[in-house]
Amino acid sequence: MKPILQPSLVNDPLGDPGLFVQFLYEKRAFLFDMGDQSPLTNADLLKVTHVFVSHTHIDHFIGFDRFLRLMFGREKTITLYGPENFIANVEGKLAGFTWNLVDRYDESLTLDVVEVHRERLHKATFRAIERFQRSDEREEPWDGGLILDEPALSVSATILEHRVPCLGFALKEKFHVNINKDGLTAMSLEPGEWLNRVKQNIYEGAADDLVVQVPVGVNGTQETREYTLGTLKEKLVTVTPGQKIAYITDTVYTPTNIPRIVNLVREADLLFCESPFTAEEEDRARDRCHLTTRQAGLLAKEAGVKQLKTFHYSKRHSHQTDRLVREAQDTFQGK
Ligand SMILES: [Zn+2]
Ligand SMILES: [Zn+2]
Repeated sequence: MKPILQPSLVNDPLGDPGLFVQFLYEKRAFLFDMGDQSPLTNADLLKVTHVFVSHTHIDHFIGFDRFLRLMFGREKTITLYGPENFIANVEGKLAGFTWNLVDRYDESLTLDVVEVHRERLHKATFRAIERFQRSDEREEPWDGGLILDEPALSVSATILEHRVPCLGFALKEKFHVNINKDGLTAMSLEPGEWLNRVKQNIYEGAADDLVVQVPVGVNGTQETREYTLGTLKEKLVTVTPGQKIAYITDTVYTPTNIPRIVNLVREADLLFCESPFTAEEEDRARDRCHLTTRQAGLLAKEAGVKQLKTFHYSKRHSHQTDRLVREAQDTFQGK
């Protein structure tokens, strides 16, 4: 079984922080933080539908301009999440350009921006066709959990302290729908786009008596055969638990932050956690509002995550990145 969520750090651990998560079999991706994005191709970035920004320190937000340049002139809606003041940050970026010619474009980009506050989500929309003027401002109550909820997946956030509010994120596939290849062969069916529709039906909780048209035409004929969703589920599908991927950066090891992080990332398959400083640099880490390797390891261990990957290493340790890796992993594995 191949995992659907395919996460990779945008840069090496000494570079700007950022996580790119591609969806297998779909032209879709999520982006966590917008620092330097040069390793990503335009084709990669064009897959992005949702962006999750931990905070707007320059190493996490300088990539907004490239992203905007690429998306501008396309009929797309991108949703961007960020902490307190994020709408003003996006607005400030947009105000840095002149938009008098937007009506010459046939296609209009829309940015939906969501600011995460302690008990509410503050939302605003910026449309290219309206010269990116702030519109549709609205507020919704928020219980401190999900910020995005789709049939197949969800994203949760927590507000962490980094001298400014900084968001931690967890992406969760609700469950995983596996297609049994032997089942396809036994039914003389070919894999194809129709399987994505079947998966979507299952994620959306469609009734078992839903009739599904399955293409069976050989050599390009348009023939279909009818099956109920229940039959296809029984013969072709195994449901397994979904993946969980968490992303924690730019925060400090305090009694307030620790339980917030642990609760958010609990039992993640993969935790991406910053560790700029060595285990012995606790004072420096506290002063800079960052984590040490050991603290990253302790958080991962306490949360029972399956795998820990550290990043956002301080440049002062560029000669000993293997030490940063080892210290975090040793603590994580209880050595
Ligand atoms: Zn940073
Ligand atoms: Zn920062």
